[in-house]
Amino acid sequence: MKHPLRCNCGTLKGYVSHPAGASRGVCYCRDCQAFAHFLGKAGDILDEMGGTDVVATRPEYVTFTQGLEALVCMSLTENGMLRWYASCCNTPIGNTPRNFKVAHVGLIHTCLKDPSKTLESSFGPVRMRVNTKNAKGKPGSMPISTIAAVLRFMSSLIHARLDGSYKRTPFFDPNRGTPVTSPRVLTRVERDRVMSVV
Ligand SMILES: [Zn+2]
Ligand SMILES: [Zn+2]
Repeated sequence: MKHPLRCNCGTLKGYVSHPAGASRGVCYCRDCQAFAHFLGKAGDILDEMGGTDVVATRPEYVTFTQGLEALVCMSLTENGMLRWYASCCNTPIGNTPRNFKVAHVGLIHTCLKDPSKTLESSFGPVRMRVNTKNAKGKPGSMPISTIAAVLRFMSSLIHARLDGSYKRTPFFDPNRGTPVTSPRVLTRVERDRVMSVV
């Protein structure tokens, strides 16, 4: 089974395979909120409490079928996460660690909207709520299910490291381990501007 992935304007398209192995979470951290504001899409991306609905999976399960030239990334800081988006229409795609050996991508819900499949039907319900201290309000806490989801997720990361499957990723050059496009790192002034609105 595959879940379609596309940017808002349809330039960048692809799909996510093994959707049942992914886990959904909502992140309320200020950096995720700042990214939404950077793209000028806070209204589309953030829920009423400032949360971003993220589908956590392995990069090898993400395939782009067209428009790869539109895929770019930014980072809020020199060592921060790489935040990927489609430059054609500023649709966020997902977040990856800088170290590609940590085989993780947190896909952002706006690129997974599809008329025939809901996020819930492909990826299941939200299982983790993280960084809730930065939420605008009080999101429901789910301690036991969060622990189970985090453990499941960690075990999939360890697996990916051992068998070398982290090298199958559309976000990095597998031989050099560098991102496929160089990240745009915000200057202090740019960062202060996006952080000031979250
Ligand atoms: Zn687009
Ligand atoms: Zn976050």
